[in-house]
Amino acid sequence: MKALIADKIHEDGIKLLREFAEVDVSTGLKPAELITKIGSYDILVVRSATKVTKEVIDAGKQLKIVARAGVGLDNIDVEAAKVRGIKILNASEAPTIAVAELVFASMLSWARRLPQADAGMKAGRWEKAQLMGSELRGKTLGIVGTGRIGTAVGYRAKAFLMDILACDPAQNAELVQRTGARYVAMDDLLRQSDFVTLHVALTEQTGHMIGRHELGLMKPTAVLINTSRGRVIDEGALVEALRQGKIAGACLDVYENEPPIGSPLLKLQNVVLTPHIGASTVEAQRDAAIVVAQKIKEALGQ
Ligand code: NAD
Repeated sequence: MKALIADKIHEDGIKLLREFAEVDVSTGLKPAELITKIGSYDILVVRSATKVTKEVIDAGKQLKIVARAGVGLDNIDVEAAKVRGIKILNASEAPTIAVAELVFASMLSWARRLPQADAGMKAGRWEKAQLMGSELRGKTLGIVGTGRIGTAVGYRAKAFLMDILACDPAQNAELVQRTGARYVAMDDLLRQSDFVTLHVALTEQTGHMIGRHELGLMKPTAVLINTSRGRVIDEGALVEALRQGKIAGACLDVYENEPPIGSPLLKLQNVVLTPHIGASTVEAQRDAAIVVAQKIKEALGQ
């Protein structure tokens, strides 16, 4: 078996792959170079940079597996792979803790005004009086989507002494039992929460599930956190709600267009923005590489 690793993945995953495949690592290939090279490989491993287009799949005459050492398959033409009977593998479970921890990093940054405090210090200011913050303790956290990440967020919220509301058609009994979370209708979650955090996959149903109506239901003191997918929120409606003070703030890791060049969000003071770094921890990247290597091994019946 020959495997081509086209994006940088953790060495531990490569080691595992080498146990059952002849592995070449060749990152930064231009689309035409990948098309020329892919012909003799059985396995292609990518992260998010390499685009596995229909042309790449058609050129991969030997391809049996395309694996994404991460979650989203946006950079892979899944339909074209299906037509050719090529298996698509990913590592959906790997970034769970990394994303859950980013939610708390963002919430705390917002509540304690860390971006302003840091910028002020570096500009030589000592703005103690202006930087009055608030605590997470006793606040209500509304979790939309209690799958892997939403549940991990719930467990951490319990440690911060937060009250938890949840909304998901598939209820998680263990989350309820361990944290006292209450499942409520989406409108009630939006009305009652001090922080609303989104953890749904992007589907036809969840696209723009937070729009003007939903933002209008939230408290004027509430903060919206999105580490799921940008298109889950109607970003135009969010900008309007933030400008008009319909909600107090937002913490965003994902955007309708990435990077959000020219977005009015970049000019707002009441937002904490990160460049889609939810899964960007050493641990999550290592886990992703190992998980895909293990899945490839299983898929090949090794
Ligand atoms: P998951 O599949 O484990 O959980 C998703 C949950 O959403 C499921 O329990 C599902 O029942 C629920 N759901 C679906 N439709 C819903 C609706 N209309 N209302 C409420 N709940 C609904 O997924 P996960 O691993 O927890 O990941 C969640 C999201 O995080 C995905 O969108 C993924 O792309 C994103 N993600 C982002 C990053 C990042 O870098 N920021 C990294 C990893 C994952």
